[in-house]
Amino acid sequence: MRKEEKEKHVVYTIEECQQCGLKTKRTFKLGDFVYKVGELCSKCKTAALITTIYAEYMKI
Ligand SMILES: [Zn+2]
Repeated sequence: MRKEEKEKHVVYTIEECQQCGLKTKRTFKLGDFVYKVGELCSKCKTAALITTIYAEYMKI
């Protein structure tokens, strides 16, 4: 265990609608993986596909 935790990372999931191309960024949820069917697109109501999962590091 480190005493000082200076970096924190947040994992994000990008969902992309295959119909209209709308991209939605949200925080990663357990069970997410690339090419998993995501939530319904807010624009055209087609099921979006998870295309990217990545972590952003931030200094506290
Ligand atoms: Zn769409």
